[in-house]
Formats: sequence, structure tokens, C-alpha cells
Amino acid sequence: MPTLFTHALVGASVTTIRDSSIKPAKLIIVAAMLAVLPDIDVLGFRHGIPYSDMFGHRGITHSLSFAVVLSLVVALVLFSEVRRFSPTFWRLSLLLFLATASHGLLDSFTNAGLGVGFLIPFDDARFFAPWRPLSASPLSISRFFSDSGDSILLNEFRWVGAPLLVFVTLALIIRRLLIKDRD
Ligand SMILES: [Zn+2]
Repeated sequence: MPTLFTHALVGASVTTIRDSSIKPAKLIIVAAMLAVLPDIDVLGFRHGIPYSDMFGHRGITHSLSFAVVLSLVVALVLFSEVRRFSPTFWRLSLLLFLATASHGLLDSFTNAGLGVGFLIPFDDARFFAPWRPLSASPLSISRFFSDSGDSILLNEFRWVGAPLLVFVTLALIIRRLLIKDRD
């Protein structure tokens, strides 16, 4: 997996295309957490669940189905201020979906481990992107800080952080222009 920082950053960045009626602070925090959450499946290693299992690492919690269900549940439970099933609700759910699904997508660009089970539970196949420039980050925090954490972060800044910076800047400029147009 890319580092947790990078996953969180990507999730938070998705919120730059949010509906302007949704307050940003809570959304940014929730989206960042959703983008990290799929790696909760590493707990399965401790319980003897094999990597390649549907419930193993990069299995069901990295699937598109999981992202759909989680985004709807989170929109319903944590954003009760948004009217249920209104256009704003669906736009919010879509953002939360993108934040969650961004995790598996980023993982598919890494050069180690097994691929991502995007289609679980309908198909157990694991997928990688055709081009995999991201190094896999150690799963343990202590190893991350003692090993080659620096070079991993630099690599991720190059392939994820820099393009993200361009995306966020463009999204903010377009948002500003649209709001100005409306005034
Ligand atoms: Zn992952």
C-alpha cells in the first residue's frame, strides 16, 4: 500500500469538488478517514486470514461494493443535516465513494503484494494497474519510520502528491470562478 498519509491526502483532496452547500471541515476529516479505512483488513493477518482470501488484505474492504455501501451508510449516519436522498445527498455519497475507492485504486499502482479485489464479492480476481510506479510501504508503523520511509514518501510525492497539488489548485480556481459567477 502507499503510506497512510498519501491515502488520507487523496481522500481529503477529493472534497475540493464538493457541493458548496456542504460544510468542508467535517467532510475533509471523514473523507480522509474513509480513504485510510480499507487497510483495516491487515488485522486479518493476525487472525490467520490468508492475503489471497476474500477477507484478506486488499480483498473485500478494497472493493467497489464496499465503497458503495460504506459511502451510503456514512452519508446517512454522519451527515444527518443533509436531506436524505436529495440531490445533495447523492453528490455527498458520490464524494465519499470516490474517497473510499481511491484507496484501492492507489494500491493497484504499487509494485508489491497481490492485486486489488475490486469486484469482490462478485469476482475474486485481483487487479493491478498496467503501470506500477509506487513502492509498497511497510505495513508496520515502526518499520516505516526506521526503514526507508523517506524515500517512500519522496516517491509518493512525485507520483501522487505533485499531480494532486495540480488537481487541488485547479479545482479551487474553478470553484472560485464559479462562485464569483454566481455573485
Ligand atoms: Zn490497502
